[in-house]
Amino acid sequence: MGKPKTEKEQEILENVLKEEIDFITYVDLNTRVSRVIVTNEETDVMPTNGGDYDEINRQAIPAYVHPEDQEYCAKQLDISYIQAELEKKDHMVVNYRLLCGERYRRKELSISYHKGDKNTLVLVRRDVTDSYEEEQKQKERLYYALMDARHANQEKNEFLERMSHEIRTPMNSIIGLSYLTSEHADNQKQVLENLTKINVSAHFLLSFINDILNLSQIESGNVALIQEDAELDTFLEELGGGICKKADNKEIHFSMEKRGDFKQKYSFDVEKLRKALLNILENAVKFTPTEGKIDFIIEKTLDTDTETTLRLEIRDNGIGIDEDFLPYIFDPFEQEENRNTTLNGGTGLGLAIARNIIEFMDGRIDAYSEKGKGSTFVVTITLQKVADDEERERKQNKSERMDYDFTGKRALLVEDNEINIEITKNILLHKNLEVEVAVNGEEGVTRYLEHEPGYYDVILMDIRMPVMDGLTATKQIRCSGREDSLQVPIVAMTANVFEEDVRKSFEAGMDAHLSKPLDIKQMYFVLDSMICG
Ligand code: ADP
Repeated sequence: MGKPKTEKEQEILENVLKEEIDFITYVDLNTRVSRVIVTNEETDVMPTNGGDYDEINRQAIPAYVHPEDQEYCAKQLDISYIQAELEKKDHMVVNYRLLCGERYRRKELSISYHKGDKNTLVLVRRDVTDSYEEEQKQKERLYYALMDARHANQEKNEFLERMSHEIRTPMNSIIGLSYLTSEHADNQKQVLENLTKINVSAHFLLSFINDILNLSQIESGNVALIQEDAELDTFLEELGGGICKKADNKEIHFSMEKRGDFKQKYSFDVEKLRKALLNILENAVKFTPTEGKIDFIIEKTLDTDTETTLRLEIRDNGIGIDEDFLPYIFDPFEQEENRNTTLNGGTGLGLAIARNIIEFMDGRIDAYSEKGKGSTFVVTITLQKVADDEERERKQNKSERMDYDFTGKRALLVEDNEINIEITKNILLHKNLEVEVAVNGEEGVTRYLEHEPGYYDVILMDIRMPVMDGLTATKQIRCSGREDSLQVPIVAMTANVFEEDVRKSFEAGMDAHLSKPLDIKQMYFVLDSMICG
């Protein structure tokens, strides 16, 4: 840095320094006189020019330094202490709080010898209040982030523990009962009883796994709404009909009141909305004792040419929910009764899923309850209207039929799991579809290539397989350059049910995606549209 030559340059330099610092002073250690070089006039506590260094400190420290910092400050600013410190390092820094007007500000005093001259001490003081406060805030933010992360980790562990428990319970009965059945294979009555129990456990397991997947899919945003056209009236009647039966079985009075006309068709994710409402309605049945009452009231709160806002109220006079528990009611795995999932047969996921679905559909769900008096759940959701469309209606009716016949058609089933091969083969043979099997992707490709084009009417492809997975096998078939390589229908059949997996199978060249466990009706419907057009 060159020396400023003119008065103006000197002035500029001083102004810049004043912005940055409170003051610069130097002390002649022979005379102990302190001289001020630059000061910032805005600084409340100013050093005196030409005063005795020790005397200045003696007066200023008790008068302006924060009581908690006075002892420290007096020690640090003592000349002999400074000299000892500067034997060890080039400069030392003293931090303290100084009374400036009404409040204490953070100051940083930097002390060094002038160019190594042990007779001249240079002291530079800065105000570091803002950066100190910013640093404190940053520390606080980090602290809370750390706490959040710990909390999330703890929640994750609890979640895994609950999952593991929920899965183990039915698994134990499946394993135990399978063993007992094989031990008593000749006792047909017991075999049938055990199989029924195994079936119940397996279905519980499946619905639990589906619930977990639903929850994680929706929470990760890794899910899409599948819009279908449905008449609201039919949707509500089906929903109410199912619940009415369950309520009847428990001798609960169930009433559904539709306030208005709901013959209109709407485009919405029928399955997801059904699932959300079912979870709430089934809870109402579950937590209302015999001779209780459940009202399901549906009304329109807004109706335009294109959309309708619905208010669906599910009100029961059952056991009610404690006000302490009410805020947690939509959290996963939360249950009031000792928070123990096995007590009421549920998993504590029903309301978490319901809320996720409703919020995903841009609606809202609220719960009101009084212990011992009953509970009310209110869902508000806006649905888009659709114009009548006969074509779509016909298509939908088609998915309801079961009279399929695939006589004369042949499928290649590419699947590695023996039990799945057995089950799928039986389902297909039931509708006269001839089935050949390949046990991995590589064998599937070979089978396809060794027959003439058109030999297989459809290829059913598992995704996760040893040797070669289904996505690679599909790509190889599509790229084989054979006459029918782009036409032969390939249907993914997999337990990978995330949106992402479905997208990957389509990208690999598949025409449809069936998830396991197989929905038989859907499977026939898809095969029919693939093979018979
Ligand atoms: P699950 O029903 O499988 O236990 P949910 O998430 O559906 O799980 O419900 C969580 C908890 O909320 C229930 O275990 C119960 O304690 C409480 N709850 C839900 N609905 C009702 C209701 N209608 N009446 C009383 N308690 C309810």
